[in-house]
Amino acid sequence: MQKQRAIVVGGSIGGLFAANLLAKLGWAVDVYERVADDLAGRGAGIGTHDELFAVMRELGIAMDESIGVRVAERVCLDEHGAVIHRLTWPHVMSHWLRIYRPLRERLAPGSYHAGRSLVDFSDDDAEVVAHFDDGSSARADLLIGADGLRSTVRACLFPDVQPAYAGYVGWRGIVEESSLPASLRAALGNSYYFALPPGEMLVCYPVPGRYWNYVWYRPAPGDAELADLAMDATGPHVRPELAARLKAIARSTLAPRLAEVVERTQPFFQAIYDVETPRVAAGRVVLLGDAAYVARPHVGMGVTKAALDAASLARSLQGSTDIDAALARYARLRGEFGRRCVRRGRRLGAYIEARARPDVPWPPGALDQNPERLLREIGATLAEIPELQAEL
Ligand SMILES: Cc1cc2nc3c(=O)[nH]c(=O)nc-3n(C[C@H](O)[C@H](O)[C@H](O)COP(=O)(O)OP(=O)(O)OC[C@H]3O[C@@H](n4cnc5c(N)ncnc54)[C@H](O)[C@@H]3O)c2cc1C
Repeated sequence: MQKQRAIVVGGSIGGLFAANLLAKLGWAVDVYERVADDLAGRGAGIGTHDELFAVMRELGIAMDESIGVRVAERVCLDEHGAVIHRLTWPHVMSHWLRIYRPLRERLAPGSYHAGRSLVDFSDDDAEVVAHFDDGSSARADLLIGADGLRSTVRACLFPDVQPAYAGYVGWRGIVEESSLPASLRAALGNSYYFALPPGEMLVCYPVPGRYWNYVWYRPAPGDAELADLAMDATGPHVRPELAARLKAIARSTLAPRLAEVVERTQPFFQAIYDVETPRVAAGRVVLLGDAAYVARPHVGMGVTKAALDAASLARSLQGSTDIDAALARYARLRGEFGRRCVRRGRRLGAYIEARARPDVPWPPGALDQNPERLLREIGATLAEIPELQAEL
């Protein structure tokens, strides 16, 4: 019998999980990635979940200590370095690359096509034809849109759906621990830190390697501010005067040890968006990962959600002779999960958005910046979030 064929658009985490899981089911899979170079230089620290590791194990990826750094507690510091709140919280922090690399290495030789960008596709309900920017095309039984925040596949299916900017950005930076003075290394120890200047949030934690990584959410209300941040950037890094300004703000608003980490990085930023898609399957086309739904990073689940979407798609297709019924099942299960993630992200980030958009009539509860609640809820494990318990 002829193998069933899938085209995966997007060769990042979501696309690689889908490609590996479908190949394991016996499908012939080709991945098309817009970026010509290896993606390995991307990304920074990520929170992990047992559910993410379970999907990796299903693919035969050994989960040893190199996958992450164990932190034992969360600590919220004020601007003088005093502890505002502390929470016992055993958790593994990883790095984007540690997830990406083994997935990429597992793909069959010749099945990953770098530097090929999907332009559009046609779908006659039994076969999909994908068209690429080099003029080539490919046919398959299923097209998987794993092409991220600015998904072309989503734009073809739902031209009216646009990422909604949340009014704030996540400033990020990463620094090798061995480059820090011994006194700073000792002060940092092995904790997951929070700082909560009014209307802002910084999280700072160790990642494998070993590095210190932070994400600092700060308002940048409009398109003009965003454009200014991106202007004259060198690679991913912002221009020197913006980096200097961020570091000066760090010195006056963050605990000394956190300000010192910021000081020693080359900051870059990611604008924060929400994306909700009406359906994640239409005809023989499905969306997964960030192409389907983007929840604000406070949910701490970008990578895990992509892995679970791919696992649910594979489970739906496994042993099914009716692809359409399998896709309907996938759409039902993952649509609900994605919507709940987006809602949770909006709720957790509302107090930061409110500072960027003071004219919106925010309900009083939305502005709650209570450290106890935030330390408990930000990046919580799936097991701690009843609303995200879901069948795959
Ligand atoms: C540069 C970058 C850094 C990130 N760093 C982190 C991090 O440190 N921590 C974290 O938790 N999350 C991070 N994320 C987000 C995280 O990767 C995603 O939430 C999660 O991996 C789900 O990813 P995805 O595969 O759905 O989408 P993405 O990772 O966004 O991947 C989409 C892929 O599709 C490709 N693509 C887009 N359009 C086309 C097209 N038309 N044709 C072919 N290919 C196309 C893109 O080049 C990209 O490689 C990062 C994302 C990016 C893009």
